[in-house]
Amino acid sequence: NKFEALGLGEAIIKAINEMGFETPSEVQEKAIPILLNEETDIVALAQTGTGKTAAFGFPLIEKINHESRVTQGLILSPTRELCLQITNELKNYSKFVSGLNTVAIYGGASITDQAKQIKRGAQIIVATPGRMQDMINRKMVDISNIDYCILDEADEMLNMGFFEDITAILSHTPDQKNTWLFSATMPKEVSTIAKRFMNNPVEITV
Ligand code: AMP
Repeated sequence: NKFEALGLGEAIIKAINEMGFETPSEVQEKAIPILLNEETDIVALAQTGTGKTAAFGFPLIEKINHESRVTQGLILSPTRELCLQITNELKNYSKFVSGLNTVAIYGGASITDQAKQIKRGAQIIVATPGRMQDMINRKMVDISNIDYCILDEADEMLNMGFFEDITAILSHTPDQKNTWLFSATMPKEVSTIAKRFMNNPVEITV
């Protein structure tokens, strides 16, 4: 199995087999070994549909301590649809990892319900920037201990005007975390975020 050769563990391999993925996509082949083996920031230029959710999702699931309830991973994505899609994918990937909770945080739905889900313990939060910032302000969520922050479709998030929210959210995260930035394009605002919040990121392009 080519996914095993990338260094992924048994539980994820089982899920991969169940989902019917046969070979890693290019972005998966390039990103997974780096993210599994190195504690590093990464900038990955990849379009949607290239398998980037698994490229960050598989290593993130491997890295999370599922015996702890603390929020360890935060994924920011531009829209409610994408947020739900990523959450759904992560739940499939971690089907055989016991005790791992992934919670979706997005606007247009009950904030109290989302806060309740967080309270039960979410090691991974997938969020849209506006609702995330709102919940941080209301102290409904604590991201002060995260180890991994993933910015998905960074160019889209910035196009949608989330610069202020993203910078505010990142200011609530610890300095020693790793940031994994995925973007289809690299406009100025994206490199500004990368320069301001990332340390010597490894760059990959597919
Ligand atoms: P994404 O680019 O992450 O939105 O993924 C696009 C679609 O491809 C999703 O439906 C994934 O479930 C699927 N997918 C991701 N990686 C693979 C793979 N290695 N083999 C087959 N399908 C995949």
